[in-house]
Amino acid sequence: MRRWNGWGDDTIEFALNQDALDFLQTRIGKSTAPRDATLAEACARVPTSRLPLHKLIDTSPEVRLRNGLGQSLPDWLKLRYGKLGSLPDGVAFPETSAQVRELLDYAKEHQISVIPYGGGTSVVGHLTVQDGGRPVLTINMSRMSRLLNLDRTAQLATFGAGVTGPDLEAQLRAHGYTLGHFPQSFEYSTLGGWVVTRSSGQQSLRYGRIEQLFAGGKLEAPSGTLDIATFPASAAGTDLREMVMGSEGRFGILTEATVRITPLPQREEFHAVFFRNWEMAEQAVRGIAQAKIPLSMLRLSNPVETLTTLTLAGHKKLIGLLETYLEWRGCEEQKCILLIGASGTPSAVSHAFTQAMRVARQHRGVHIGQTIGEKWKQNRFRNVYLRNAAWEHGYAIDTVETAVDWPRVSAMMHGVEQAATAALASNGEKLHTYTHLSHIYAQGASVYTTFVYRLSGDYEQDLQRWSRLKRAICEAIVANGGTISHQHGVGTDHAPYLHHEKTGMGIGAMRELCNYFDPEGLMNPGKLLPTT
Ligand SMILES: Cc1cc2nc3c(=O)[nH]c(=O)nc-3n(C[C@H](O)[C@H](O)[C@H](O)COP(=O)(O)OP(=O)(O)OC[C@H]3O[C@@H](n4cnc5c(N)ncnc54)[C@H](O)[C@@H]3O)c2cc1C
Repeated sequence: MRRWNGWGDDTIEFALNQDALDFLQTRIGKSTAPRDATLAEACARVPTSRLPLHKLIDTSPEVRLRNGLGQSLPDWLKLRYGKLGSLPDGVAFPETSAQVRELLDYAKEHQISVIPYGGGTSVVGHLTVQDGGRPVLTINMSRMSRLLNLDRTAQLATFGAGVTGPDLEAQLRAHGYTLGHFPQSFEYSTLGGWVVTRSSGQQSLRYGRIEQLFAGGKLEAPSGTLDIATFPASAAGTDLREMVMGSEGRFGILTEATVRITPLPQREEFHAVFFRNWEMAEQAVRGIAQAKIPLSMLRLSNPVETLTTLTLAGHKKLIGLLETYLEWRGCEEQKCILLIGASGTPSAVSHAFTQAMRVARQHRGVHIGQTIGEKWKQNRFRNVYLRNAAWEHGYAIDTVETAVDWPRVSAMMHGVEQAATAALASNGEKLHTYTHLSHIYAQGASVYTTFVYRLSGDYEQDLQRWSRLKRAICEAIVANGGTISHQHGVGTDHAPYLHHEKTGMGIGAMRELCNYFDPEGLMNPGKLLPTT
């Protein structure tokens, strides 16, 4: 069963090995796990529902608790400490677009706010119920998950928007296709969630971001139904797909989505290359991206992330041998690991790697084969479970991401890491922080930073610690000219910073769109747009 106060299935554990624990303790100090509230204690704190009865709505405390929050660190703090705050008054599980429409009509009639719920993997407060105000209905899309149409000639597939990553891929694989969209939250996140948060998968270099994959669909909004037809391309004015993408549940509910699919690749490989330092690695990865080599993934870790990855890997002896070899090849303390993926026919994969390695060698890259890349592939959705393991030793793990043009990539990385370190130092705490470039473009890259720090054991103090950190990081992103989000979206946590990139005119236009689709302001209030 899915954990109610952490990540993932409760039969899956991904423990921190002793070396990793020692490593963390040396860098940021020993810690102990706070006491978790039990599910029974948490359920007992769920307030009475304010919703008028409806046959599609479940108002039981456990269902409201399990569908009331996402996966951001403040969400975890609420669940783990049992300080739940506001929760939805009820949860509906519609099975058809007609039932979604019925629920929206009910919400209009009774002036109820509506929060669409995909997989609940938001890390930026997309699902938070605002304190005070109207009663809240959460609409969970999990029962709308079927493959509705497969057009082999156009390579298009239409799904119910509540389909999760594994279910979507399994339904396509049965016909020999893949969508190729693999965010790290793949296990639970949904097609509808990906579209409305502008998600990006790990192999976006081959398959594209969700913007390239989303071809059309159906949106049920309080003011009506929007059908978006599919075209290979169109010059007919504003692209309606672009309007719906990034709408974060503010316009209505995406009930169906048509996506561009690809035949399953015959071969898929992930190789690792080490570089002597960040500067050489960055030049190499930029060179590879700008040469437009048909790869599926480029993921470059900075020296601290490289060290952390090698420590977490366990297998001390083998890693020791690898490090000796790398030292001999000139890759010492400042070494950086680059993972390179390619998919397709065997000859296309082989040709892509030959081209990429040629560029890597120009920057003294040391190719060590596929072992680390294969391990990464095996664990790519399991690593997330480390968040649970770290918490159980008293450590919080949080991440932040942005994207910026190449001239500002390194400054952004240093700026974010330094701002975060300083913010925690003002609390007398140390931070373990590291970064990778997760999505590489000819123009620039996304910069993805992880933070590990100690929990205090007190809800208020931990929330204050997180708020200080988050503010410092967002201000550093803005100061270094980055977008407030490359892939996680805006939600509540990033909304105060949105005006820096959209300007007053842009925010005004977005507000007008919300008003058009949802004149009474029922849909997901407080998300995406700044509240003042
Ligand atoms: C461990 C972890 C790793 C992650 N890795 C990645 C990553 O690699 N790439 C990435 O892009 N993101 C990542 N994320 C963020 C998150 O998974 C994405 O934002 C994802 O797109 C959210 O999808 P969801 O179905 O879980 O949506 P939810 O979290 O349920 O909802 C997110 C927002 O979308 C709205 N919404 C959901 N479904 C619909 C619908 N059908 N119609 C209208 N509105 C809807 C909700 O109202 C809410 O505003 C990660 C998150 C976690 C916890």
